[in-house]
Amino acid sequence: MTSAADLLDLSSRVAVLTGGSGGIGRAIAEGLSRAGARVFSLDLPGTTPPPSVESLPTDVASSESVNAALDLLMGRAGRLDFVIHCAGITADRVLWKLDDESWSRVLRVNLDAAFYLLRASVPHLRAAGAGSVVFISSINGERGKFGQSNYVASKAGLIGLGRTAARELGRFGVRVNIVAPGMILTPMAASLPADVIARAKEESVLGRLGAPEDIANAVLFLCSPLSRQVTGQTLRVDGGQLIG
Ligand code: NAD
Repeated sequence: MTSAADLLDLSSRVAVLTGGSGGIGRAIAEGLSRAGARVFSLDLPGTTPPPSVESLPTDVASSESVNAALDLLMGRAGRLDFVIHCAGITADRVLWKLDDESWSRVLRVNLDAAFYLLRASVPHLRAAGAGSVVFISSINGERGKFGQSNYVASKAGLIGLGRTAARELGRFGVRVNIVAPGMILTPMAASLPADVIARAKEESVLGRLGAPEDIANAVLFLCSPLSRQVTGQTLRVDGGQLIG
């Protein structure tokens, strides 16, 4: 029987990750690198991913830019095993005050980019006959959240896109899963009002908020053969904020 350590060894594997300079993305990048994978981060120009990661400055809301980044990656690495969409933004307002641009900007970065990235990756994953795709959604994509209609629509969309992609890509040996974090202390969460953060902590049955490493560990599991029979699933990593 293969040991857990061997199953978590991702040497010679190649990952593409969006948002690798952010709070959670950085932890995912470092976790995959530590497991031996070569990691390429697609993040905005001017942002800095961890040193272990190869940076491909990209606005993931542009399909042309995503296609160009994938071409560069394939030219350099020659293979692709893991596809992770973690880049995300918020523009919160109650929906009757939400302008068109704030609606569509959030949908473009959070949801459209996942489609662009996956579409560009599929030929390479199909050619390999294997692969793991992970979308970082949110528990709010499942339950809704006051003031976040655009963000929630994008995160719910990732769940639908992920489940459909799991059905379409299973025949090629490619698994697709979604991670739904609860509140994680990152720069994105730090901008929230103190009472919102306190409420999230109260909701957690563990009495604590998650750390970026908790999401990185879930992604590592979903990329590794430890999860070889898992596809089309949404894994909540939320300290039990949303049980049910
Ligand atoms: P963050 O703001 O620290 O990181 C987001 C990253 O996305 C940044 O590096 C940013 O530069 C990048 N990005 C934004 N727009 C981009 C674009 N157009 N092109 C390329 N990159 C772009 O946020 P985070 O807290 O680390 O969140 C990461 C993911 O986790 C997001 O999808 C977020 O919705 C999700 N999430 C976060 C929490 C939380 O509590 N922090 C909870 C649930 C889900």
